[in-house]
Amino acid sequence: MGILERVRSFLPGNNGPTANDELEKDGPHTGMVIVAHPDDAEFMFGGTVAKFCALGWTMYYVLATSGDKGTHDEELSHQELAAIREQEQRDACDVLGVKEVIFLGHPDGFLKPDEELRGEIVRLLRQYRPDVVLTWDGFRQGFNHSDHRAIGIAVRDAIYPAVRDHLYYPSDKEDGLEAHKVNEMLMGGSDDPDYRVDISDHLETKLKAIICHKSQIGGTPEEVRKRWSARMRSAGGGTPMESFKRVSIRRPARQQESEKKETDQKPAESSEAQPAASAQR
Ligand SMILES: [Zn+2]
Repeated sequence: MGILERVRSFLPGNNGPTANDELEKDGPHTGMVIVAHPDDAEFMFGGTVAKFCALGWTMYYVLATSGDKGTHDEELSHQELAAIREQEQRDACDVLGVKEVIFLGHPDGFLKPDEELRGEIVRLLRQYRPDVVLTWDGFRQGFNHSDHRAIGIAVRDAIYPAVRDHLYYPSDKEDGLEAHKVNEMLMGGSDDPDYRVDISDHLETKLKAIICHKSQIGGTPEEVRKRWSARMRSAGGGTPMESFKRVSIRRPARQQESEKKETDQKPAESSEAQPAASAQR
């Protein structure tokens, strides 16, 4: 992918600068980033990952491939490039505050949203039990790498319904991994974003994390810093923003608990008490 195409493919849609921050107020949660290649997450939503980590979220990263075709250097083998890019990804995750990085080791460029990939994702979701998953929008219409489409679709199909229904991939249960429900999916690179995160206080961390991907960035670190700083600001009308398509799969557990309490209390309450209970919501 050329540098211009790369920049274009990571840019968020520009439908307005307002940040919605419900998820930030509601946390801290456990989050899992699931993307195709080292560097995907930093370009798309590294500021959001940095912000979530700073808010006390526990963040995990899953990389479906190690990006072993992303070079024009004819001296480098697949294995050498994969090792370089895995280390760059670990360095970026250290900068952001990510707890653990997992590489699935699929060959770069040939990712398929098949039952094998879906099963690997289901197993990781059952193991790490994230509330929020950040991934690619696999259905965007414009130019995109096939691996980005494939991982976006595989993640969506893993989250609904496979991970929550124990009869999908039943060997997980034999290994002690229970079914799980993910609350929210935030999809980057979307044509139609509806959730924006103000990364003003985390732009510097995002830029540092991008610069960790030395084998991928064109130009000097200072040029990269300037270019990406300007792009993030222009996407948010002056405020650096990252944009997502948000899909809420179920309401947060905390809200369900408070609703359950209300329901449990209702038989004991007089009818006059009910308007007060509604007003508290
Ligand atoms: Zn990529």
